[in-house]
Amino acid sequence: MGTSISIELSTHKKTKPLANERGFGTYFSDHMFIMDYAEGQGWYNPRVVPYQPISLDPAAKVFHYGQTIFEGLKAYKTGDGRVLLFRPRKNMERLNRSNDRLGVPHIDEDLALEALNALIKVDQDWIPEESGHSLYIRPYVIATQPALGVDASAEYKFMIIMSPVGNYYPEGVNPVKIYVENEYVRAVRGGVGEAKTAGNYAASLKAQEIAKQKGYSQVLWLDGVHRKYVEEVGSMNVFFKINGVVYTPALNGSILNGITRSSIIQLLRDWGLTVEETAISIEELFAAAQSGALEEAFGTGTAAVISPIGELNWKDEKAVIGGGVTGEISGKLYVTLTGIQRGLVPDPFGWMVE
Ligand code: PMP
Repeated sequence: MGTSISIELSTHKKTKPLANERGFGTYFSDHMFIMDYAEGQGWYNPRVVPYQPISLDPAAKVFHYGQTIFEGLKAYKTGDGRVLLFRPRKNMERLNRSNDRLGVPHIDEDLALEALNALIKVDQDWIPEESGHSLYIRPYVIATQPALGVDASAEYKFMIIMSPVGNYYPEGVNPVKIYVENEYVRAVRGGVGEAKTAGNYAASLKAQEIAKQKGYSQVLWLDGVHRKYVEEVGSMNVFFKINGVVYTPALNGSILNGITRSSIIQLLRDWGLTVEETAISIEELFAAAQSGALEEAFGTGTAAVISPIGELNWKDEKAVIGGGVTGEISGKLYVTLTGIQRGLVPDPFGWMVE
């Protein structure tokens, strides 16, 4: 790439949070990456700068019409001090698929990866070393043109910020209780559907609040057209093991194409299991849960990796899954994938990038 990224180093280093203070996404590293876009000019001025507030015109389009997209991935530090990323190109490819749906101009994926590398290099000392901890990376684009007309912005900012995050499960991986959401939906095919864009997440908050009030960790989303087929769990993809076969909802335009999801399908098939990507109706699933045919259920995503589901509530009927304990496949996937990510076990598919 010909474009060179300028680097302005911070003159004072922030105090880093202690391991037990990290939580998720509340502390940010010393630097950030910014690149601007203007119609006619394209993307310009890629730069690493000290982490700082940005100033935007109150009319900036992102505030009014939600023209924005984001990504999420993690950097890990190995025992011998190497820095590893999990399939980062996949994130940049998905970023561009989201860009395309939201009318945001394409970003050169090599340049985006170069930006990521430059930022990680200056903030390497922010990557936690404790097992289960990592540096969460958030690339995102916002529409910045100050204009209230409903059309695609003529100006954008692409930014990357990074946050040291703690163990998602300080007490170990334990199954969570899930509420099947019958009224609200998070995304529809033909709408912003599978794009990783703010509106889909804003759409999910109310149902999540209601589920929390009822004592459930997350909701199981049904499709927006029929309220019949299972889509995702919270902001994770979802898998079910029924009578020995693993099922996951087929990508249908409203389900996020998760990088953990595709990696797990590959791993399970490599282990000799049958994985079917298909439409799964809630009636069938709930019947399988009640009869005991549903042996395991789990969510998958960058943040938690694997999140086992121990109980489903559908229309106030409850079904316990796999005795409410972490299943064999869920446990094995968690150990394998987190092992690969931390460089502790062989990486058979060449997923990790140093
Ligand atoms: N579904 C949704 C709605 C998400 O936001 C995420 C997190 N990006 C996922 C699934 C999991 O995707 P990934 O495995 O790429 O993190």
